[in-house]
Amino acid sequence: MNAIRTTCPYCGVGCGVSATVTGARAVEIKGDSTHPANSGRLCSKGTHLGETVGLGGRLLAPIVHGQETGWDEALDAVAKGFSETIAQYGRDSVAFYVSGQLLTEDYYVANKLMKGFIGSSNIDTNSRLCMASAVAAHNRAFGEDVVPCTYEDLEQADLILLVGSNTAWCHPIVWQRIEAARAAHGTKLVVIDPRRTETAEGADLYLPIRPDGDVALFNGLAAAMRSRGLLNDTYLAAHVDVPDGYWDVVGTADVADECGIAPELLEQFYDLFAQHERCVTMFSQGANQSVNGTDKGNAIINVHLATGRIGQPGMGPFSITGQPNAMGGREVGGLASTLAVHMGFSDAERDCAQRFWNSPGIATGPGLKAVDMFRAVHDGRIKAIWIMATNPAVSMPDAGFVREALAKCPLVIVSDVMANTDTAAYAHIRLPALAWGEKDGIVTNSERMISRQRAFFPPPGQARADWDIIADTGRRMGFADAFAFDNAASVFREYCAQTAFENGGRRKLDLHAWAELSDADYDALKPLRWGGIAPFGDGQFSTANGRAKIIAIHSPKCETIDPDFPFRLNTVRYRDQWHTMTRTGLSPRLSQHRREPLVEVHPEDAAALDIRDGGLARVRTAQGDAIFRVQYSEGQRRGELCVPMHWTDQLNAGGRANRLSSQNVDPVSGQPGFKNSAAAIAPVTPAWTGFMVCRDQPVLANLPYWTLVRQRSGWLVEMAGFDEPDVDALMPHGERVEASDPARGTQRLAALDADGRLAAALFLTRSGRLPSRDWIVAQLDSEEPTSGAALLAGRPAQLPPDRGAIICVCFDVGMKTILGAIAEQQLTSVEAIGAALNAGTNCGSCRPAIKSLLNDQKEAVDA
Ligand code: SF4
Repeated sequence: MNAIRTTCPYCGVGCGVSATVTGARAVEIKGDSTHPANSGRLCSKGTHLGETVGLGGRLLAPIVHGQETGWDEALDAVAKGFSETIAQYGRDSVAFYVSGQLLTEDYYVANKLMKGFIGSSNIDTNSRLCMASAVAAHNRAFGEDVVPCTYEDLEQADLILLVGSNTAWCHPIVWQRIEAARAAHGTKLVVIDPRRTETAEGADLYLPIRPDGDVALFNGLAAAMRSRGLLNDTYLAAHVDVPDGYWDVVGTADVADECGIAPELLEQFYDLFAQHERCVTMFSQGANQSVNGTDKGNAIINVHLATGRIGQPGMGPFSITGQPNAMGGREVGGLASTLAVHMGFSDAERDCAQRFWNSPGIATGPGLKAVDMFRAVHDGRIKAIWIMATNPAVSMPDAGFVREALAKCPLVIVSDVMANTDTAAYAHIRLPALAWGEKDGIVTNSERMISRQRAFFPPPGQARADWDIIADTGRRMGFADAFAFDNAASVFREYCAQTAFENGGRRKLDLHAWAELSDADYDALKPLRWGGIAPFGDGQFSTANGRAKIIAIHSPKCETIDPDFPFRLNTVRYRDQWHTMTRTGLSPRLSQHRREPLVEVHPEDAAALDIRDGGLARVRTAQGDAIFRVQYSEGQRRGELCVPMHWTDQLNAGGRANRLSSQNVDPVSGQPGFKNSAAAIAPVTPAWTGFMVCRDQPVLANLPYWTLVRQRSGWLVEMAGFDEPDVDALMPHGERVEASDPARGTQRLAALDADGRLAAALFLTRSGRLPSRDWIVAQLDSEEPTSGAALLAGRPAQLPPDRGAIICVCFDVGMKTILGAIAEQQLTSVEAIGAALNAGTNCGSCRPAIKSLLNDQKEAVDA
């Protein structure tokens, strides 16, 4: 079969993917060398997409109140449920909670149904959680949500500032482009982050900023540029409105104190900014996921406007999005705070949208943003909610509260690809949606590049496209003509036409050139960027007077420490996982980089609390508590913790980060402050710890700590308990061998199948010493019988070398293997390690980690 050009479904980099079907549900994945975003490169997540396309765990038929049904029955139930709720309680008693995983066509139809035909704005998206503050900052400064930069600006810049972005892990192909630019042109890099991440390791300057110190830092930068005479007065006079008192605001801060950064580092930062006019400031979740995220965005934009560093090659403020189509959702109006296609709720805009849609009524004002939406579900104002392609029972802050809300909501509808998500457990109606590789549509990446996602598998079971499911519901609610779409192309055409309708140059988002696209041209659509390379290159902004706005912002006061919750908790993402792991958790390779959710803590903080590296600890906030494996990290600031946001009830007992985060949100954008919660941490001392390797997924009820890690031929389970373990409940039936040492408190069991191959092995200890997992896990792959004695020993007669934690998932290379090769072969570069071990030579996602190991080794030798 010919390769199909499509787009990666994970992050907002929006890499092109070349997919060649090789079997019924098998596909070979390569980077699309013709796609401008990635030129053929893919990170570890994109590279291993082929491991996530199986049908295991898929929802393949509608389910109404636990019974499998056909579509007619299911969508009649949805339409009737919504219509009756609206009739009885009003149009604001219903809501859609949608997702940056949806394609633009899905988003468009959902937004049209809710705002134009139901007549409410209660549609919000999980993008609220990742970049709503950047949207609000753009709207305040530019008059429209327009990202001024492209990835090419990164290559043309002389200085790149990364603010709250672990780019090497979260946007790896952008990171590779930055690394290539640095190698080619000596581009300077400054990383501003409370954590010293892999991204920070190789920076020219790292600023370990205290959480939420960004406004003070960028106000300080603006004041420093002014005192050095480096403002662009010509640009300011021609294109920017500066509010009275702005310079008083930025000049008053004690920047070093408010940011927690040494004055000499601040001077280095100011010098770099002063010396390099072509500067891009890229900001991401670390800036956005804050109770003052909008202000952070505007503080960054202010500096670029004041120095005229915007609209020209290699310069500008650059918000990079988390999700594959967060931008598409913003464009159509999928946020409760916009109406449609970058229009707000003025009378003129509402009239314009209503006439375009020819709708019976239209939403009168902004709807409920995500956190408020679930509050309204909780207190009964919302009585029917439709959740599409997202998992709020895990991903929302104070996720326990969201679960309570869903449990008492009279009607919960969930459209999803997977059958068993934590959110699906609360659904009265579940609707099977098409997955990546099965659906057609467009996505927009962080640089306004629109790309096609294309189907290369036929629809499985009864699964349907989201736009099709929503349109069918709209027709059943009585809006037949407005939702009579033939295909994704017809939705796309209507969306493009709406961006152009009575636009008159007021909005940069104008896709009129594609409003008449034929179906064939839509099928063949190549990546295109709206707004051009520099949408503000002419100095014209989308405000009423055409001028950009500087916003005067005071930096927030330092928080007082609560003695009950003396730490600041940050939630973060891992290199090889995506969101709530419903897809990346299917990949055995991607599961190896981080096998468990870790709480990272500074060693001195840990030692003071008797918390052991590799042990377990309970993190507690006012919202709840969760147990994590401990990792000491010198990269953490003292008094701060971080935990990953990915794990769910499906793969872990209780290590869910977002049950800990509070409902506090940015007052402008409504984005939650995930990155800075008051927390406490204490050691957990279980009576026993252990692990199990097994072919079939085990049932692990009633254990206080367990984590399931997918392997190529089965599962690895890490576990711990306080009570006597119920071994019979854990192990499969069949022939067993067993050994125990009561004196040491160890117990080892192995179950073999009829061919003598490993079915399951369980290792428990009360002393804390357990064998290495790798050899035992590898026995699941073996076609040969395994020796019971070797299994109980946890190793063969000839012990294979311990690889350590997996660094390179493409070639399965561990940390100890790399460190050994560095020492023995005197390797001094990432390239030399690649030549020796292959590590880092495929997707390149592990290259920052390898570089970090090289640096550590060099520092150890120098010391
Ligand atoms: Fe996908 Fe990785 Fe590219 Fe993001 S950087 S779009 S996850 S391949």
